[in-house]
Amino acid sequence: MCPISQISSAQQDNTTNLSAQRASKGFALNDLTTVAADLIEYNTMRLSCQADRLITLNLESDIELVVAELDRLGTPIFVLSGGSNVILPELLHASVLHPTYKGIEILAEDSDSITLEVMGGENWHELVVHTVNQGWYGLENLALIPGLVGASPVQNIGAYGVQLEDYMTHVKAFHLPTQTWHEFDNDDCQFNYRDSIFKQQAGQWLITRVGFKLHKDAHKVTANYGDVSTLAMTKAEADSRSKITAKDVMQAIIEIRQSKLPDPKQLPNCGSFFKNPIIANGQFAALSTEYPNIVGYPVDDTHTKVAAGWLIDNAGLKGKGIAPILTHDKQALVLVNHSAADSNTPASQHDILATQQLIQQTIQDQFGIALEREPVWVNNEAHY
Ligand SMILES: Cc1cc2nc3c(=O)[nH]c(=O)nc-3n(C[C@H](O)[C@H](O)[C@H](O)COP(=O)(O)OP(=O)(O)OC[C@H]3O[C@@H](n4cnc5c(N)ncnc54)[C@H](O)[C@@H]3O)c2cc1C
Repeated sequence: MCPISQISSAQQDNTTNLSAQRASKGFALNDLTTVAADLIEYNTMRLSCQADRLITLNLESDIELVVAELDRLGTPIFVLSGGSNVILPELLHASVLHPTYKGIEILAEDSDSITLEVMGGENWHELVVHTVNQGWYGLENLALIPGLVGASPVQNIGAYGVQLEDYMTHVKAFHLPTQTWHEFDNDDCQFNYRDSIFKQQAGQWLITRVGFKLHKDAHKVTANYGDVSTLAMTKAEADSRSKITAKDVMQAIIEIRQSKLPDPKQLPNCGSFFKNPIIANGQFAALSTEYPNIVGYPVDDTHTKVAAGWLIDNAGLKGKGIAPILTHDKQALVLVNHSAADSNTPASQHDILATQQLIQQTIQDQFGIALEREPVWVNNEAHY
């Protein structure tokens, strides 16, 4: 397997040697562990969180030994990848597994398509850029979503008309309670809007590899969402081309996201904080009479998906909340942590809850709609 970052073969040999040395020496959990770890740098919301143990998994082959040892110690396990979709507690009495194993392998290829298997510790956005640059298309609409590849099936990541399930072929995962390996095909994952079997059975799975089937037709694109096609067209025209390509779409989406969404490195956040609620068409029709500008998209014959950002914005909550957690002033669906990076009292899960409840109550009172949180709420013992 060759990592996306193209590590040299010398480095790869080194990793193999390390694995062999460790096997001959005997496995020691302490070699991989930081005890009493501060996770503030491991979650994009920059919440203060002290975990009992942080275990960095550089090698997929260490997983069985690590999990068996943690089982012997009787400690709960929590899997943390990029930390961009979690709300962590101040104290986490669990062993946190942080996958960093990398690699990308071609499983099959013909003139029209390619099937890849990617290790869970790879960075998602780097994978998207790498595939598009190679002439392998499909993931371009999912550019700039933070996090790691192993987490991408958990909530079936989606953006600009594409979801992971459209291109994902299979998942390899370790079942933590029974310590057994499993392979899922696309149907087995029970994908839904921001949902999958891995989210339903939260805390039970460690995904190590994700497979994708991508196509090679640069002009087969999904660009019917918002400003994507207009912006992609300006890129094609600037290059004297009359048709947009997947690369134009990716670049357009990167620009749109950069202009609308706060960068977690500057303004800590975890992306969309609420799911877009799905309501009955009758309720949507009644709301449309009262609020003619309400934004909704048909889901099926009887239901409409309402833009949660519109509801929050129109309830007068844009840029508001309970300090230090406020909605973003350009995108009300995103909650931003305004506590200073060097603050002695960093923001915590309690601060998030205060603003979350304020928003949910306001939206319920004004529109009669219950907003559901999107990121994963983790309690003190890693239960969900
Ligand atoms: C600015 C911003 C923009 C975003 N935009 C989008 C968007 O457009 N669309 C979208 O869908 N999401 C979006 N997100 C949410 C987030 O980036 C995705 O959900 C992403 O897939 C989370 O990856 P992660 O590695 O950070 O996961 P984490 O936050 O580390 O984990 C999320 C959940 O998955 C579990 N998990 C993590 N890794 C594994 C694994 N290997 N095996 C099993 N379980 C695992 C964790 O236990 C946790 O329950 C955005 C977030 C931010 C901050």
